[in-house]
Amino acid sequence: MEKIQFKTESKRLLDLMINSVYTNREIFLRELISNASDAIDKLYFRSLTDQNVDMKRDDFFIKISVDKGNRILTISDTGIGMTEEELENNLGTIANSGSLAFMKENEGLEDIDIIGRFGVGFYSAFMVCKKLTVVTRAYGSDKAFQWESEGLDGYLITPASRETVGTDVILTLKDNGDEENYDEYLSEYRIRSLVKKYSDYIRYPIKMDMQKQRPKEGSDNEYESYAETETLNSMIPI
Ligand code: ADP
Repeated sequence: MEKIQFKTESKRLLDLMINSVYTNREIFLRELISNASDAIDKLYFRSLTDQNVDMKRDDFFIKISVDKGNRILTISDTGIGMTEEELENNLGTIANSGSLAFMKENEGLEDIDIIGRFGVGFYSAFMVCKKLTVVTRAYGSDKAFQWESEGLDGYLITPASRETVGTDVILTLKDNGDEENYDEYLSEYRIRSLVKKYSDYIRYPIKMDMQKQRPKEGSDNEYESYAETETLNSMIPI
């Protein structure tokens, strides 16, 4: 299958992200969590008026997971999801009109300004990942689709499977360099502190399995590790 090319403006923003020397790369997590929260808002508001949406308040959450072996970070939500067409329209084109206008007004200026001045959305993931995969199933559909891109040479949309409605944004982190260590985004403690710093007020629980240690039963000096799901944000509005 042939890759679809990004539209010109999207390509420029994407290029900026991929080659970013911006030090505040960590904001990518805030951007992806904010998209996840928006998607949940959409389904939540629909559930208030549409009796076919069989979801309770507790069913709405964001889950962050890490796969250290494969260096993959995943942000999942139980939001409204995207159809195949929406995947194409929303992720193939730069949606954030603020950053687009800013880019047009400031041709030739130091590119990096845009990242600090605006929420740059979805593409900011490319500041830390070399491959970005989105698996999503839209509300009202029993089909799921995958959008995948390794950067400037375009993206592919293929059929996928997903048990429930919602979206997984899956980041395969960039390789570590001499000066950059992307493994920090696989650390549960680092992620928890980023969520606290930027996304504490998000109105839905942001959950993650935290690795913990406990004394092994029947032993005085041996410990075993176990995972416990924690809600990282306090959900209190700022
Ligand atoms: P913005 O959030 O400013 O609109 P983005 O580039 O971050 O711009 O995202 C583009 C669009 O992609 C969003 O407006 C939304 O329609 C869609 N999108 C992104 N992430 C998700 C998600 N987790 N679930 C559903 N739709 C999403």
